[in-house]
Amino acid sequence: MNAPVTSPVKSIPFIDLLAQRRRLGERIDQAVMAAVNAGQWIMGPQVAELERRLAAFGESRFSLACANGTDALALPLMAWNIGPGDAVFCPSFTFTATAEAIAWTGASPVFVDILPDTYNMSPQALEAAIEAVMRDGDLEPRVIMAVDLFGQPADYPAISDLARQYGLKLIADSAQGFGCTLHGKHPAHWSDVATTSFFPAKPLGCYGDGGAVLTDDETLTELMDSVRIHGKGVKCDGPLVAEFGHDPKYLTARIGMNSRLDTIQAAILLEKLNIFADDIVRRNAAADRYAAGLAGVVQTPKVIEGGVSTWAQYTVEAENRDALIHSLKGRNIPTAVYYPVPLHQQMAYRHFPTGPGGLPVTEAKANRVFSLPISADLDPETQDYVIEGVRAALA
Ligand SMILES: *Cc1c(COP(=O)(O)O)cnc(C)c1O
Repeated sequence: MNAPVTSPVKSIPFIDLLAQRRRLGERIDQAVMAAVNAGQWIMGPQVAELERRLAAFGESRFSLACANGTDALALPLMAWNIGPGDAVFCPSFTFTATAEAIAWTGASPVFVDILPDTYNMSPQALEAAIEAVMRDGDLEPRVIMAVDLFGQPADYPAISDLARQYGLKLIADSAQGFGCTLHGKHPAHWSDVATTSFFPAKPLGCYGDGGAVLTDDETLTELMDSVRIHGKGVKCDGPLVAEFGHDPKYLTARIGMNSRLDTIQAAILLEKLNIFADDIVRRNAAADRYAAGLAGVVQTPKVIEGGVSTWAQYTVEAENRDALIHSLKGRNIPTAVYYPVPLHQQMAYRHFPTGPGGLPVTEAKANRVFSLPISADLDPETQDYVIEGVRAALA
């Protein structure tokens, strides 16, 4: 029998957001109060500054902030007039929002299987799905939506080659992966547009909802700016806008939505962006510590060759996952399952097509994966307690 191990802390949070809040200290108080007292609560100067800083961080020409990561996916789809009859290829092993934004437009998600080692979209399965849709003739292939699941970049060199070869747009859903790189390049480098979410639990989160898009495409930026502000007239809408003589907000060029980011959230994100590169280093240190402590105990994650993950999740695999999770719970070690039911098996999405041969890898992984606590503020003592807990539970 193992001697009972006692938890070093009263309870271990799955993601310790308040530890980072304490680390940021008064900088946040000051940034928030400055935004409150300046009175420009919507589209204040902090929003424009954040957009500049996000574009610089993600190495893209342009960035627009928006209300959340789901809208960030809808903005390019709406800007490109994606709709009924169009196919958008995406993984099924992802958060619902990936497919949700596609279905909003009336287009059809086509679910594609994943690679067994990285959980990201399989380029081979993607090509087979595109070919099958073309053969079928019911839907027109338009867009590929790759996901940087758990923080690591999708296989962008292969996927962007396919996008070019088949004349498709490529969206990088980097809600979990903003800040990740592959061969030193950010997802925006390979895609037409990369999106992210500032939901608090994401690697770069704010204190509410938020999101952003990053792109090198100036016209697309204008169109997405229009869509996020009720379809307002923008430069590329032509001379009508220049000659309008009133606030272009009141010239409606298309049906858009309201997806602005609050100035207060932008002010918080500017402070968090200052420490974000360091946070990614800390997250990688925590991932390395898990990999060393759990090697041979559970199946530890594998990052694509040349990739740097932001470790939105530290996801491992075990045969007897549910028993293991139960045992960890008894040791006050929180876990989470991302994702227990893949989208193509969900009530809301099971009528949409999948690639040929179905999604065997996705279905197998959904029964095996679970995630351990990780954050930039996970201290070694707590992490060792988690590692010991997993080892003991499996002993
Ligand atoms: C969180 C998430 C989103 C949606 O972001 P929200 O800000 O919650 O709308 C989209 N895609 C993926 C992969 C996500 O993890």
